[in-house]
Amino acid sequence: MTQAGIIQGNTGEWEMVIGLEVHAQIASNTKLFSSSPTDFGAEPNHHVSLVDAALPGMLPVINRVCVEQAVRTGLGLEAEIHQRSVFDRKNYFYPDLPQGYQISQYLDPIVGKGRLVIELDDGSTREIGITRLHLEQDAGKSLHDHSPTDSFIDLNRSGIALMEIVSEPDLRTPEEAGAYVKKLRAIVRYLGTCGGDMEKGEMRCDANVSVRRRGATELGTRCEIKNVNSMRYVMKAIQYEAERQVALLESGQVVDQETRLYDANLNETRTMRSKEDAHDYRYFPDPDLLPLVISDELLAQIKASLPELPDAKKQRYVRDYGLSAYDASVIVSDKEWAFYYEQLVTLCDPRLAANWLTGELFGRLNKLGLNLTQSPIHASSFAGLITLIENNIISGKIAKEVLDKMMESGKEAAVIVDEEGLKQVTDTGAIERMLDEIIAANPDKVAEYRAGKDKLFAFFVGQAMKASGGKANPQMVNDLLKTKLAE
Ligand code: ADP
Ligand code: MG
Repeated sequence: MTQAGIIQGNTGEWEMVIGLEVHAQIASNTKLFSSSPTDFGAEPNHHVSLVDAALPGMLPVINRVCVEQAVRTGLGLEAEIHQRSVFDRKNYFYPDLPQGYQISQYLDPIVGKGRLVIELDDGSTREIGITRLHLEQDAGKSLHDHSPTDSFIDLNRSGIALMEIVSEPDLRTPEEAGAYVKKLRAIVRYLGTCGGDMEKGEMRCDANVSVRRRGATELGTRCEIKNVNSMRYVMKAIQYEAERQVALLESGQVVDQETRLYDANLNETRTMRSKEDAHDYRYFPDPDLLPLVISDELLAQIKASLPELPDAKKQRYVRDYGLSAYDASVIVSDKEWAFYYEQLVTLCDPRLAANWLTGELFGRLNKLGLNLTQSPIHASSFAGLITLIENNIISGKIAKEVLDKMMESGKEAAVIVDEEGLKQVTDTGAIERMLDEIIAANPDKVAEYRAGKDKLFAFFVGQAMKASGGKANPQMVNDLLKTKLAE
């Protein structure tokens, strides 16, 4: 296996360099400059105001909520907040862009440099630089597959507020790029500034990819792969694109700076258009909008309202609940999980809760294709199960069966244990009687054990657990067996 992010060419090793631009739809009821609703899935062209359709004479009015959401996101990325920013017109023609320009931010974005810590599967972490975050409008959508002869335009998305979040070219492997998108998604979801649902297009990713000789310091020419809409595709597109560039360079050709499309069916990228430079867009400040000024007061207010974010939560879980870094990061990677876990810790042992949540419940939900909010088991019920384990009422093995039954029936753990008589046997007399029978039924094995074949101990434990239907307290079985076999 070659090292991730390194491509072994015919003439030596190449390294990938990746920078991501993520378009995150701002969680807001109305659009960036109009009062049209933003709900997903409406009939085409039902959420279009005169401003969104760019009728002559219409003027944009900035939506305060969208501005606050951008600031909140910037703070979550530990970024500089620019209290004065400017909206620019980015001019280009596209049938689904009725204004003939997109209102965006160019030289003076609302948020400047920040950082984001990514976490890889081996538990290591790396800090990735954020270059900027700016506000801009989304475009509409052209529909080419509804008629053989005509194209249609749906302007529902036109004017919806986006945050474009640009990373430094700090990422080095497809895995890191995936981890970056995952972490960014987690953070905006914690902040409540973006739903993060990639299937609904709430987060879309442009991946900029170049390659260079391993160890080189200068950046190679990049290609930008537009609008990749799943984490898995982002990673596959980057791998494909980097290999394509290495093959070009090794055969003496050059990489053209261009915009490419990723085709998930064929797993390849294709030329979309040659890359335009910023000056092609003739950016200029939008004369319809004043510079955007954020008061000290508003900034302080937003700062004070920030929730605890995943990195801080993870540290707290390790410190206060004694969780492993791994378990903590699994739980904090989604705000719903963290919320569920924090209900559990008020009701039962925090470490057992983490083990049973990550080790048992997640897997069962996954199999059913459910997320935690759709779980048939409420946190208080799950805590009920864990309390039974904690208090030695049931063994871990029985608890797994009880959990399966809870998933099916929605019944409380204690009810299932009662109804089915699953309580652990901790009655010394009862366990002793059972062990006596086993010893009496296996005189040969007892003799062999007493003659020094220690391994047979496990056989006796197994017999006892079987005879009790898994209900005998394992510790008591062990202790009593030792005494009896030594007699
Ligand atoms: P544009 O707006 O034209 O796409 P930007 O300067 O905003 O250009 O950069 C876009 C992205 O490209 C950033 O995420 C940046 O990190 C990344 N990038 C820039 N140069 C390279 C390179 N040589 N290789 C890979 N990524 C790059
Ligand atoms: Mg770009």
